[in-house]
This record gives sequence, C-alpha cells and structure tokens, in this order.
Amino acid sequence: MTALADQVAIITGASRGIGRATALALAETGVKVVVNYAQSSTAAEALVAEIEALGSQALALKADVSKPEEVDNLIEATLGQWGRIDILVNNAGITRDTLLLRMKLEDWQAVLDLNLTGVFLCTKAVSKLMLKQKSGRIINITSVAGLMGNPGQANYSAAKAGVIGFTKTVAKELASRGITVNAVAPGFIATDMTQDLKADDILQFIPLGRYGQPKEVAGMIRFLATDPAAAYITGQTFNVDGGMVMH
Ligand code: NAP
Repeated sequence: MTALADQVAIITGASRGIGRATALALAETGVKVVVNYAQSSTAAEALVAEIEALGSQALALKADVSKPEEVDNLIEATLGQWGRIDILVNNAGITRDTLLLRMKLEDWQAVLDLNLTGVFLCTKAVSKLMLKQKSGRIINITSVAGLMGNPGQANYSAAKAGVIGFTKTVAKELASRGITVNAVAPGFIATDMTQDLKADDILQFIPLGRYGQPKEVAGMIRFLATDPAAAYITGQTFNVDGGMVMH
C-alpha cells in the first residue's frame, strides 16, 4: 500500500507522450487511471492493457476536452466506473506553430481552445467534486514557452502563460478545502510533439545537453499528487527542463 493507492486519476491526453508516462507512473503506485484521448483509441487501449498487466486498473475514455459536453461525459463515465476523482492531470495539448504575421485565427483559436479552455473546463468540473470531498490534487501541464516565449509559438505561449495564471488563482480559491493546484513546465521532451524540431538548434540552450524523457516529467507530476509529501505545496510552477530556465 502506497500513499496513492486506491485513488482515482483522470489524465487528459494520456494515449501518448507525457500523459502516457504519467498514467504508467500513477498506476505503478496503485492509482486507478482514466486514460483520456481524442483519436488514438488503439494506443489508449494498449496502455490500459499494459497497466492491467501491472496489476492496476485503467479505463480508456475518448473525449475532446476542449468541448464542454465531452468533458461532462468524461467526468460522468469516470464517476460511473469508480465513484470518485482524486487527481486531475490537465495534460492534453497541441501546437500550431507559425510566426505571428502568418498565424491564422484558426491556429490561435485551436491552441487556446484545448491548451487553456480545456484546462478550465476539466478543472471546473472536477473541482466541484473535490470541494465536496475536501481533498484533491490538480496538476496542470504548462511549458517553458509560457515563461520565456518562443518564436513561432504566440498562440501556444499565450495559452501556457494563461495556465500559470489560472493555476495561481484556482490554487487560492480551492486551498481552504484541502485541494492543491500546481503546474509543471517541461522544456523539450522527446515526444511526438517535438519530433520534427531540429535538435542542434535547441540543445545548445539546455545545460543538461539532451531532451528530457516523458517519465522524467511524470516523476514530478506523481510527486505533486503524493500525500503527504506534496500536501503543503500549492500555486507553484515547477520546471522540468534540463536547466533551460533558471529562476
Ligand atoms: P503528444 O505526444 O503530442 O500527445 C498529446 C496528447 O494529447 C495525446 O494523447 C493526444 O491524444 C491528446 N490530445 C490532443 N488533442 C486532444 C483533445 N482535443 N482532447 C483530449 N486529448 C487530446 O504531446 P506531449 O509532448 O506528451 O505533451 C503533453 C503536454 O505537455 C502538452 O500540454 C504539451 O503542451 C506539454 N509540453 C510538452 C513539451 C514537449 O517537449 N513535448 C514541452 C512543454 C510542454 P490523441 O493521441 O488521441 O491525439
């Protein structure tokens, strides 16, 4: 029995990348995990099978978390299966990179809709339950782009900076009920999202000299979900970036 056993977690965008590694990291400690995805049903079901082989429980649920009705269905299905939600990891995210003058309104809106509005919708829905429970952990995945900006990512960096402000406000609103809300800011992590970037241009800015692995971000997320180790931490943003941004 660990500090997280028997809890229920929703991880948005868990079919691939950082979300997938987070689902595995939480499941290893006995957390029942909802593997949310938008399209990759085969990958999501394969992850559920992998988690079940570890002796833990998981459920794959399709939902576009930028859509209010699909978020409601995701929450209802989770409650139908396990009756509670203890941990929410707002991880689902996309990029639509291009320089500002070429950025179409659709590129802006799609990124804001998922990366910021999706975080709002899931957090609002889950916090209602957590307020009644008087406990809960909400972990929002932001980015170093939200802290330092990045050419070609006006939409993405605006959304990710928004997530940091949102995290601080909601942390203050929910603190009195024992709910913590924190953000994790990855640097460059080896996932589908970064596979087309030119590593040579990037590695010079990373003191540790390499991309991070999804499980290295998942370790921080799992720590923030752990009780009592992380119980006195709220409203913070933690960089997992190989030293790219030093405060
Ligand atoms: P990824 O490998 O591209 O995976 C994205 C995940 O989000 C997939 O599981 C995808 O599901 C899901 N998703 C996409 N649209 C969705 C929607 N509308 N509703 C629900 N789920 C949706 O991305 P990643 O690199 O792991 O990134 C995860 C998070 O970390 C994102 O918030 C990203 O911005 C952030 N981040 C990543 C890096 C990095 O270097 N990789 C750096 C900083 C921050 P499908 O498989 O079904 O499409």
